[in-house]
Amino acid sequence: MKKVLYIFSLAFASCLAFSGCSNTSDEDQPAKYIFLFIGDGMGHTQVSLTESYLSYKEGKFGGERLSFTEFPILGTCETHSVDYNVTCSSAAGTAIACGNKTNNNYIGVDADGKALESVATVLKKEGYKVGIMSNVQVNHATPGAFYAHQDDRNKYYEIGMELPESGFDFFAGSGLYKPRGHKGENREPLDSYIERNGYEVCYGMEEYRGQKDSTDKMVFIQASGRKEDTDFYVSDGREEEDISLDAMVTLALDFLGEDEPFFIMCEGGEIDWAAHENKTMETVHQILDFEKAVNVAIEFYNRHPEETLILVTADHGTGGAALGQGPDWRPENFRWDLLEAQRNESQGKVSLSAEENKALNDRAQIGWTTHNHTGEPVPLYAKGKGAERFSGRMDNSDIKGKILGE
Ligand SMILES: [Zn+2]
Repeated sequence: MKKVLYIFSLAFASCLAFSGCSNTSDEDQPAKYIFLFIGDGMGHTQVSLTESYLSYKEGKFGGERLSFTEFPILGTCETHSVDYNVTCSSAAGTAIACGNKTNNNYIGVDADGKALESVATVLKKEGYKVGIMSNVQVNHATPGAFYAHQDDRNKYYEIGMELPESGFDFFAGSGLYKPRGHKGENREPLDSYIERNGYEVCYGMEEYRGQKDSTDKMVFIQASGRKEDTDFYVSDGREEEDISLDAMVTLALDFLGEDEPFFIMCEGGEIDWAAHENKTMETVHQILDFEKAVNVAIEFYNRHPEETLILVTADHGTGGAALGQGPDWRPENFRWDLLEAQRNESQGKVSLSAEENKALNDRAQIGWTTHNHTGEPVPLYAKGKGAERFSGRMDNSDIKGKILGE
């Protein structure tokens, strides 16, 4: 009897180990619809700042929540790169996208320079449609990590040249950075290169509407992206026709449809830019814009709750923000009133000098420790099919495997 049991359990164990033998449950399969949102520079404290501001708006010290922080699963990801405690966006983007740590400034390659395969590429091969979007340039570090392979994230032109090779279905962003190569170079404009290689490049909504039914490969660029080397905040004078990040997600859904499975990566790229400058209110408003983009996915989830996975995470923190600073801490609310008044006065356009900005943060009791990135773990919020895999501690290089159900 003992022997029979032993043989039985041996057979059972080997059956489990060999997944082709067991009935691979639907639970192990990637979700049909996958949304991955990356708030560039959106660490725990940037999220806390935003929720503190929302609470202030309600006359409270706390309790207001961003929609995605209410997701049922909360994980936390280590972010260091191979060669630094503190990562950059390309190394973190590569870890998230490709499941491998790499050196800072490397993009889509491991620390030895070997090309890696991103989760988007794997899913594309499995029949998923892929949409990659950001409110910064489509050849910037985070979007680039999903399709490019370079040992230097500053090779914007080369990253842009890799875009058509991806075969992904939809891209959107503020522009194409360094569209003729670096200073002194005068290479074929990236948009014409990309068009020659099978994509339609549309600038603004009017061109999008005119072209969307006649192509199945689209690069949507903001209308203001026609100007070369666009490099400014949405709030700093983009053209009226330019669309918000949530509208980009809506556009992706419009273009990709829902008949076939899809993977959408959406980056809130300007959270990082605002936090590099230690601009408290700009950081908060960038996160509120990012939340609106996540909300489009939540609406989609509500229509397809069994088949949709939404992940919201960050590549790293930026600026070392803190709720509270200095020796003269007072038991009253953070001075969101001062920060808000300054933003209203300037209508988000006239920027304060670095000294004026620091003085304002000091008065508001909001601390910032650096103009660079920071090395603490970042949050990961998950909701939907397979979300439970993202509970607890993980490394940012674990995300790809968890998405794929490995
Ligand atoms: Zn940064």
